[in-house]
Amino acid sequence: MEKLKCEKCKKHLRESMELQYSKEICVPFCSKKCANEYYCKEFRNVTLDIKNTRAASMLYMIRDGKLYHSNLEDDWCCKCRKEQLIFSRYATIESKEYEIFKCNGCGHEELVEIV
Ligand SMILES: [Zn+2]
Ligand SMILES: [Zn+2]
Repeated sequence: MEKLKCEKCKKHLRESMELQYSKEICVPFCSKKCANEYYCKEFRNVTLDIKNTRAASMLYMIRDGKLYHSNLEDDWCCKCRKEQLIFSRYATIESKEYEIFKCNGCGHEELVEIV
């Protein structure tokens, strides 16, 4: 018989541990701590930097202290199709608010209305 080990820390599993099990990947862990650390790593979990949410994902913005999903649907430049759009600035045009994204390659600016 093969002794079972924690998928994260590789300790042999014992009855006395706070045993955890992932139904998704069918592996056991010795503790919630090990399970959480493993899941965070596997799913490439990072702490979201609220001063720079755009660094983590183009699709999040902060307004009134709350997080919103941007209306930008595709961050590839629709003009050159070679580069990704980068968030540039917010702008108000004819009393409508926009997020403006700019292509690093061709310089195309994409206006996305904030609604
Ligand atoms: Zn463990
Ligand atoms: Zn472009």
